[in-house]
Amino acid sequence: EMKELEELKEHLSASQKIVFFGGAGVSTESGIPDFRSSRADNHDRFYRGYAPEELLSAAMLQEKPEIFFSYYRQHLVHPRAQPNRAHRVLASWEDQGKLQAVVTQNIDGLHQEAGSKTVWELHGSVHRNSCLACGKSFGLKSIVESTGAVPRCDTCGGIIRPRVVLYGESLDQSVVEEACRAISRAEILIVGGSSLVVHPAAGLLHHYRGDCLIIVNRDETPWDDRARRVFRGSIGEVLEEMAAVR
Ligand code: NAD
Repeated sequence: EMKELEELKEHLSASQKIVFFGGAGVSTESGIPDFRSSRADNHDRFYRGYAPEELLSAAMLQEKPEIFFSYYRQHLVHPRAQPNRAHRVLASWEDQGKLQAVVTQNIDGLHQEAGSKTVWELHGSVHRNSCLACGKSFGLKSIVESTGAVPRCDTCGGIIRPRVVLYGESLDQSVVEEACRAISRAEILIVGGSSLVVHPAAGLLHHYRGDCLIIVNRDETPWDDRARRVFRGSIGEVLEEMAAVR
């Protein structure tokens, strides 16, 4: 067991083709709740009688934008969250030329804030917003600091929408392609903080061709039996341990 772990750490420390694929569990240690953790009880299932899938849908944004934004601002935006040690280890691996890309389902922008450069955001980002009418771009401030029930463009008065993928919308194909390319070229693929049940994102793992899939997740995932090794601990703790070379 111990020897196997040491071998894995040596493999990691020698590799220049690590790719990380992550989900909401990567940011729980930054205080952002995930959706499916068996421990998570802080995510409201319903709001004004709507399920999250309805609240965060393209139809809700179009038909009842004030309800959409009320829920979105309360549950999807965490302006004070800071990167945690998992984000920092991944950024330093990229800096050292060991890690080629981070593929994430998160929309919080914490990988970039920690210093990661190549980040494929499958579900978009709360930091990118644009006017539905004229296309003008806005930062997160336009969403959190706007006083009205619906954020409006200061140029044309159109609704500003977050460039996050809503229920009923498809992923950005160019981002998916880049993510698939990165995963297919990975020597070591580390998957962390994802239940791997959200599709199509989780299906991207099928592009991995290597033989060293490492999973770090508190709960079981459908990919566990295909992994070289599964860690059930905290993602921050496990990544720090992996990064520590004697
Ligand atoms: P998920 O909520 O389905 O699963 C998270 C997994 O992470 C769980 O299996 C849990 O056991 C594990 N986990 C939680 N904290 C952990 C920790 N500290 N260490 C190790 N494991 C931990 O997440 P998902 O697979 O990413 O799917 C959720 C969907 O919701 C995604 O589409 C994502 O876009 C969105 N989402 C994003 C954020 C964010 O941007 N931070 C937060 C919540 C949800």
